[in-house]
Amino acid sequence: MIERRTFLFTAGAATAVAAGLGSFVIPALANDPDGPFKLAPLPYDPAALEPHIDAATMGIHHGKHHAAYVKNLNTALAGKTELASLPLETLLTKLNDVPEAIRTTVRNNGGGHANHTMFWQIMGAPGGPGPDGDLKAAIDRDFGGMEKLQETFNAAGGKVFGSGWVFVTVDKDGKLALEPRPNQDTPLMEGKRVLFGNDVWEHAYYLKYQNKRADYLKAWWNVANWKVIADRYAAAKAGTLTI
Ligand code: MN
Repeated sequence: MIERRTFLFTAGAATAVAAGLGSFVIPALANDPDGPFKLAPLPYDPAALEPHIDAATMGIHHGKHHAAYVKNLNTALAGKTELASLPLETLLTKLNDVPEAIRTTVRNNGGGHANHTMFWQIMGAPGGPGPDGDLKAAIDRDFGGMEKLQETFNAAGGKVFGSGWVFVTVDKDGKLALEPRPNQDTPLMEGKRVLFGNDVWEHAYYLKYQNKRADYLKAWWNVANWKVIADRYAAAKAGTLTI
C-alpha cells in the first residue's frame, strides 16, 4: 500500500510540475508508525525555495530520500530498545556500541536522518536578511567574511568526490570551522555541533542542475535562512543545540 501511494504521490508531483502548478502537498505517509524516529514535515512548501531549488527535487528529497533514512534506521533498531531510546545526536556518538551487523546501516541512515533534519531547517524562501550581530562577527573572524566563507565552502563542496556534505561546525565558544564529510557522515559523530550544511549528493540538485554542482552550490546561498542559523549559533553557545 505504501509503495502504491508513494508511486501515486510521485506521479502526482510530476503532473503538478508539468501543469505549472508550482507547488504540491506532500502526504504525511512517510512516518514509520513503529518509530522511534520520525520524519517531521517540511517547515515550508516544497516550492518555497524556487527558483534555486525546485519543488520536485524538494518533494522527492524529503518525501522519499529522507523518509527512507528514517524507515531504515527504525528497521535496523527494531528490538534494540536501549539504542532506539537514545536521542539521535547521542546515538551517533555511540556507533562503536552498535552491534557490528547493523553499525553501517545505523551510521548511514542515522547520519542521513540528522543531516536532513538540520538541512530543511536552515533553508527558507529567498530574499531573507543576511547574517548580522555575533554571527556575522564570527564569520568575519573565522572565515574572513561572507564572500570568503562562500568561496571556501563552495570549493569544499566541489571537491567532495561522490556523495557527501559540507558543514560549518560551531563550538561552545562560538568558533566556526569548515568540515566536509563523505556519505551521510556528520560532525555529530565526533560530538561536535553543526551550525549549517549543504547536501552535495546528486539527489539534492540533479533534476535542475544535472552535472553542474558548482552552479547549485552558488545558488544555494540564496535559500540559507540566516534567522534560523543565528538561533542555532546562540543555542550552540548556550550548549542547547542538538541536531
Ligand atoms: Mn540528501
